[in-house]
Amino acid sequence: MTQTAKTLLVTGGGRGIGAALCRLGAEAGYRVVVNYVANAAAADEVVRAIEAAGGEAFAVKADMASEAEILSMFEAIDERFGPLDALVNNAGVVSLKARVDEMDAARMERMMRINVIGTMLCAREAVKRMSTRHGGKGGVIVNISSIAAVLGSAGEYVDYAAAKAAVDTFTVGLAREVAEEGIRVNAVRPGTIDTEIHASGGQPDRAMRVSAQIPMKRPGTAEEIARAALWLLSNEASYATGAILNVSGGR
Ligand code: NAP
Repeated sequence: MTQTAKTLLVTGGGRGIGAALCRLGAEAGYRVVVNYVANAAAADEVVRAIEAAGGEAFAVKADMASEAEILSMFEAIDERFGPLDALVNNAGVVSLKARVDEMDAARMERMMRINVIGTMLCAREAVKRMSTRHGGKGGVIVNISSIAAVLGSAGEYVDYAAAKAAVDTFTVGLAREVAEEGIRVNAVRPGTIDTEIHASGGQPDRAMRVSAQIPMKRPGTAEEIARAALWLLSNEASYATGAILNVSGGR
């Protein structure tokens, strides 16, 4: 690994789409920071796999619902790898299937705090380090949204869909705000992807169950989302900013 390797932070990098991003990001030559909140073993396994393949990585625990923990995470990265080059805001949660008239405020607040405010706080810290306005050398941010932002998730989790719609608008606005400062900001909207997120929302069989509604008749894989995000991070996407890429099997 050379001194000039770029540093990539993936929030929620221990499992699912985030873990695929960490592994493929390391293969592409990034030094990788694997953020997690609860599953240290999964994050450590990602770090070990990257190191075993000759890459460089470390895991850092930080809850995207906590500004203090996000600030500490960025300080840890500054110390270990120097200023960040690339950020993927991937950490995200769903809740149990419910109608809006069954949701309490605590659920809605958790949804917005992790999926929206966590994303905005990480982006803020990244911009402070990347922007030429602050003496940085530029960088790239990719936000992991969801096709739910377009579909609305009626009867399932409208709060989640609304949070992802906020991520989309944040992506467009931030992209325009920092376009002259060497930073590109884009988003990927995954469709239904086969990860553990569905089990965490009480629907372990969801990915297979909704396959009939997907034009390609199958769920996507974590790697298929990771590859789209990596393309947006790369110089091959050098003129793309404020873009939101549906990777959803046609949904
Ligand atoms: P997943 O398998 O459930 O993994 C979620 C990851 O996020 C885990 O690494 C988890 O950390 C981390 N995380 C959760 N809450 C966090 C918090 N408060 N602070 C820091 N990290 C946190 O999910 P996934 O399916 O890979 O989803 C990744 C992203 O894609 C999410 O933003 C999700 O909304 C989006 N997405 C997924 C799908 C899908 O069908 N899977 C579709 C559209 C969009 P621990 O390992 O420590 O628990």
